Amino acid sequence: MRTKQDYINRLSKMKRNLYFDGQLIDRTDELQMRCLNTIGTTYDEAAKPENQELMTAISHLTGERINRFNHIHQNTIDLHNKQDMTRMLCQKVGGCIQRCMGTDATNAIYNVSFEADKANNGATQYHENFKKWLTRFQKEDLIGCCAQTDVKGDRMLRPADQPNPGAYVHIKERLKDGIVVEGCKVHISEASVADEVLVVPTRALREQDKDYAVAFAVPGDWDGLKQVVTIHNLREREHFPRGFMPGSTDSYMIFENCFVPWERVFLAGEWQHGGVNALLFALFHRHSYSGCKPAIGDVILGTAALAAECNNIQKAEHVRKKLAEIIMVTELGYAAGYTASDLGGPQVFMPGKGFVPYGPGSYIPHSIYCNVGRCLSGEAVWHESEILCDLAGGVVATFPHEKDFVNPETKDALLKYTKRSSKISVEDQAQFWRFLGDALCSATGGIRNIGAYHGGGSPIMEQIAITTQYDIESRKKLVKYIAGMSGGDREALAKSNFIKRPKKDR
Ligand SMILES: Cc1cc2nc3c(=O)[nH]c(=O)nc-3n(C[C@H](O)[C@H](O)[C@H](O)COP(=O)(O)OP(=O)(O)OC[C@H]3O[C@@H](n4cnc5c(N)ncnc54)[C@H](O)[C@@H]3O)c2cc1C
Repeated sequence: MRTKQDYINRLSKMKRNLYFDGQLIDRTDELQMRCLNTIGTTYDEAAKPENQELMTAISHLTGERINRFNHIHQNTIDLHNKQDMTRMLCQKVGGCIQRCMGTDATNAIYNVSFEADKANNGATQYHENFKKWLTRFQKEDLIGCCAQTDVKGDRMLRPADQPNPGAYVHIKERLKDGIVVEGCKVHISEASVADEVLVVPTRALREQDKDYAVAFAVPGDWDGLKQVVTIHNLREREHFPRGFMPGSTDSYMIFENCFVPWERVFLAGEWQHGGVNALLFALFHRHSYSGCKPAIGDVILGTAALAAECNNIQKAEHVRKKLAEIIMVTELGYAAGYTASDLGGPQVFMPGKGFVPYGPGSYIPHSIYCNVGRCLSGEAVWHESEILCDLAGGVVATFPHEKDFVNPETKDALLKYTKRSSKISVEDQAQFWRFLGDALCSATGGIRNIGAYHGGGSPIMEQIAITTQYDIESRKKLVKYIAGMSGGDREALAKSNFIKRPKKDR
């Protein structure tokens, strides 16, 4: 497995195709270093013997030990470990660990490429191509990102109906040795620090959208690909450093006449499978969210409790209520992911059919619990910021910059007037308000909230998944029975195949 330094060294050799604020920049530009340190934590932690079980796995392709982020889930234990690894790492960096998009895209494509080949009766080799690509990805311990979200143009028009065909990434031309793709994917996290970009469709597709049913992987600096990056760094500290300084990036990925050889293509025109690919990436990603959002909840809870202590209001009744709210959302999100792992299996939910076997045998988390957990905890993001705002008061918005705390003309007065609680040193109180200002009042803090709300799909997407997949009919039949109406069925839920409990629990 690689070290963080190996990862950075490899990025430093990649071609320059990153545009930031009007300039072409290197991947190892100083601006990207905070982000590299964050994602680099996944290498540092995987190398520690005490993290071996949680952070590494045995590849089912090669039998070699690999980083768990590059693993295809083989059983429910893998799903549990992925969730717990994500929570543990996100706690360490105080937010998004940034490597899960590759995990979730590889797991989705692994299954969909298999099913597409099966439906094509052997006329395509998507799955074999993907396994070859994946073997190298695992052996070289590479970082993948997932480019799913298209610019989408007019939201009320489907892909083939858009006046600009590039509103969704699509196959422009089919050649003997590959395809040519065109279009733009947006908001793609960590694409500027990824070795490989996995491209998957955004939404359900119709037959006339078949050119939009395309999945492939290319290196981040591939010919025909430009990235316009936004880099999210906090205000630098000179005198009062944070314990960990995170960073992240998102890219607009512009594909122009971009040639992709067949061995890197995993879906090309199978429109029914394109929609499943979109849903499956979202599903795996919502499962990852059940690890990261609880970690963010851990940080928010600690922050809220410290804000209350700095203000010496920790015993107030409204503080208890707000801390309880944060804990409830955090642990319900975690519990939903835990259940999704426990009920996972080589199956997906197909409307009208219930759960059906899917893929070559790898494990897929339970869809309802992934969606319920993501929606519940994703929608809570702004309310949690409101709690922090309430408990902190206005200080967080107007706290003086750090140099005023070292300037002899202002330092002593500022410390004197920063002091609130007598139980925490005033230096620590000042350091806490700086930290909370980073979270609540910076551009990066705002971007994080929007990412936590929309990333993995806006709440409406989870609500659609939940209501189309949940067996509402069997509940209606049960109520009809209880109410004494016609068409009632006392056993309706027992007959439903909505939840298949693992044998051990029966
Ligand atoms: C910080 C951040 C990081 C992200 N990282 C990634 C990433 O790594 N990879 C990736 O692929 N994506 C990523 N995303 C994208 C994320 O998944 C999308 O933002 C999300 O799916 C919403 O899509 P959208 O932004 O196009 O908003 P829209 O879908 O345009 O939503 C805007 C509004 O329009 C409504 N709407 C949209 N379509 C319709 C319709 N047909 N009918 C009625 N109402 C409609 C929505 O419900 C919503 O209210 C990221 C986003 C953010 C903010």
